[in-house]
Amino acid sequence: MQEKPYFCPNCRSNRVKFSVITSYSQSFVKDALSGNITEFKEPDAIAEPEPTIQCLVCSFTGNELRFIKQAEREPRMNTTTTTFY
Ligand SMILES: [Zn+2]
Repeated sequence: MQEKPYFCPNCRSNRVKFSVITSYSQSFVKDALSGNITEFKEPDAIAEPEPTIQCLVCSFTGNELRFIKQAEREPRMNTTTTTFY
């Protein structure tokens, strides 16, 4: 995941609350006759080049890049009345 601001391209109100969706692979052993699962291996995270991000406000899910691009298009404005010289 990149150290860049996110902005949800769907609800366009969330820049702070997200979750990352990770895929896991977990192998198991089945009994050929009964179909019972006899053994579970430890789950392995599947490495993804681009993480999938979910907005926790509207539940929109998309590539991390979509959130980053939206933040670049609409950077956070300084809404205070501070004047910069
Ligand atoms: Zn959203």
